[in-house]
Amino acid sequence: KSKSLQKGRSLFFNQQIDEQVKRDFLIESELRLALLEKELSLNYQPQICVKTSKIASVEALVRWNNKTLGPVSPDEFIQTAEDIGMIFEIGCFVIEQAISDIKQFNNNSISAIQLSINISPKQLIEPEFLPHLSKTITSLDFDASLITLEITENILISDLNKIQPILIELRTLGIKLSLDDFGTGYSSLRYLGNLPLNEIKIDRSFIDKVLVNNQTESLVKTIIAIGQFYDLTTVAEGVETKEQFDLLRSYQCDLIQGYYFDKPLPVAALNDKYIT
Ligand code: C2E
Ligand code: MG
Ligand code: MG
Ligand code: MG
Repeated sequence: KSKSLQKGRSLFFNQQIDEQVKRDFLIESELRLALLEKELSLNYQPQICVKTSKIASVEALVRWNNKTLGPVSPDEFIQTAEDIGMIFEIGCFVIEQAISDIKQFNNNSISAIQLSINISPKQLIEPEFLPHLSKTITSLDFDASLITLEITENILISDLNKIQPILIELRTLGIKLSLDDFGTGYSSLRYLGNLPLNEIKIDRSFIDKVLVNNQTESLVKTIIAIGQFYDLTTVAEGVETKEQFDLLRSYQCDLIQGYYFDKPLPVAALNDKYIT
């Protein structure tokens, strides 16, 4: 009995694996054409200043809507983009589109907002990355000090010797740097004092548990204190409730991002709602 059950199970798993292989193949082949087919777009999620309750900045988040696959999450396709050598091109699209959209927002609004852009490790070490970024900033006449690049901790263990000079050069241009998904990677503390960072983003997984788990609550409180110690802006991502917001405010977290305030919005909705 158990043998036939096992057989049935492995048939089931094989089918699942088959489906996954097919999907991966489709994602790969369709992703190569996504830019040409104009299937990529950006959403912008507001980051709210805790002190003023006003929008301080937005994070650009890439969206892919494919004719066959439908919407595919960046969590699923960014890795593929890195693997098949498409991340630089996709990154260029994100940088150009985001700067152009927020340039327009700021032209039309009384107070300028900041722009955060996610950057993959492979993208950052591409030799053309810096020249393209500074060319885009210059040609769109954008204030570089309004830009924050979000990098993840994993970038740092990969090749610090290669990464550090690039980060320093970015800072020389006036661009700010944020450590995304903070607390999920390796030995974060070592880097905070040594890297030219401006900001840390506390990972959503901590915010999820901050009200239900005392240890997580202490951890979040400590991360914010560490950020303050190093003179870094602290951002909490994935804030979904007023209770989470109130707690983070009591710890003097600087910026709040999450569904409690807003979802990532298409640029037209962002403009309608937030241009003052
Ligand atoms: P991330 O940079 O940590 O972005 C935060 C993610 O949390 C976003 O998912 C956002 O939609 C989601 N989120 C924000 N607030 C809430 C909330 O209150 N509750 C919940 N459950 N989720 C919330 P998204 O847009 O699916 O992006 C996933 C990841 O993909 C990003 O994580 C980032 O690592 C990557 N990514 C997105 N856009 C880009 C891009 O243009 N370039 C690169 N290299 N990576 C990107
Ligand atoms: Mg991010
Ligand atoms: Mg994050
Ligand atoms: Mg993430």
